[in-house]
Amino acid sequence: MRGTLRLFTGAKDESRGIEGTFMWFMEEVGELSASLRGDARHPLAEEFADVLAWLATLANVAGVDLAGALSSKYGTACPGCKMAPCVCVGEKP
Ligand SMILES: [Zn+2]
Repeated sequence: MRGTLRLFTGAKDESRGIEGTFMWFMEEVGELSASLRGDARHPLAEEFADVLAWLATLANVAGVDLAGALSSKYGTACPGCKMAPCVCVGEKP
């Protein structure tokens, strides 16, 4: 599928399901948090990669084209102020 970010694919993702995949994703977010707090057992770059990989897998299992969604919402500029880089004041984005 064009524009789809697929890092893992296959029956394993389908059998794990949305809930199981979400749990793995959150576990990796926790490891990224530990890394950002200085836990050397979790190398920072690897934890960012793990979080992105599990997010992409979760989107696939949920039937969402993550690359397309990212491009559609953030591809050209900030969705709030329509500028790149963002010049929003205060609240996100
Ligand atoms: Zn903005």
